[in-house]
Amino acid sequence: LPAPGVTALTGPDVAALLPRPGAESNKYRRGVIGVLAGSDRFTGAAVLTVAGAVRAGAGLVRFASAEEPVRQVRARWPEAVTTVVTPERGVQDVGRVQAWVVGPGLGTGDDAHAVAASALALDVPALVDADGLTLAARDRSLLRRSAPTVITPHTGELGRLLGVDADEIEARRLYFARRAAAELGVTVLLKGSTTLVAEEGRPVLVNVTGTPWLATGGTGDVLAGIAGAFLAGGLSPRDAASCAAHLHGLAGRAAAAGPQGGEAPIAALDIARELPGVIRS
Ligand code: AMP
Ligand code: MG
Repeated sequence: LPAPGVTALTGPDVAALLPRPGAESNKYRRGVIGVLAGSDRFTGAAVLTVAGAVRAGAGLVRFASAEEPVRQVRARWPEAVTTVVTPERGVQDVGRVQAWVVGPGLGTGDDAHAVAASALALDVPALVDADGLTLAARDRSLLRRSAPTVITPHTGELGRLLGVDADEIEARRLYFARRAAAELGVTVLLKGSTTLVAEEGRPVLVNVTGTPWLATGGTGDVLAGIAGAFLAGGLSPRDAASCAAHLHGLAGRAAAAGPQGGEAPIAALDIARELPGVIRS
């Protein structure tokens, strides 16, 4: 391991943590996830986040957004229950959820701020990613919540959140992941060639299951959906984040790998497609 106070999850650790349905299960008990993502300009992020949530085994995905992303998600994921939200009503018509994912493709204007704030005000765990982090960099009160919060920044997003240069973050990733966890009182999943999961008072988890082929648009949105589904399923923020990073990395590798051992570029949606096989094995 690269440093003291750092640890890693193994495949068997992840297998033991993953929620498995039993005879007493129903979709509500398995975990209802709310996904607040996408905007009329960015519809793909919404589809990809929902893909991650569905394939990670959410009991039910409730998707909330503007009209166009709702249309796209309905067309591609009939499993999701959708609601068109407005800045005035926020997420109050969405129904109960056990965890929220807020941010991929959401936009960063006043309307996005209003709906994000309405979801983050609820007393359920939440994962904040992408545009949600840009909104939080301008208004840190979004992250001062009563329930547990996971943030999933890449280097640039964490830099903006802390007011630190991205190069500085890249040079001292472990330090800044820990510092953000302590300063913001959240669980930090810091993305990059390795993924770190930091929480105050706990060893930092490092994940190396990924592949550089993951460096392509949309893969982070799928990760947010996976981690959100695990949060809704009752895993702790630290377990949800690290299991998601582990499986997302393996699914990325599986998507890149060919039967004869070569590798090829992947598309973000391939990660969701490979997830069942990775979970099975
Ligand atoms: P995002 O920046 O939100 O699109 O997320 C990108 C995803 O790809 C994250 O899960 C990163 O950890 C992963 N990723 C990006 N670059 C690399 C890399 N060079 N090696 C492995 N994983 C990467
Ligand atoms: Mg992203």
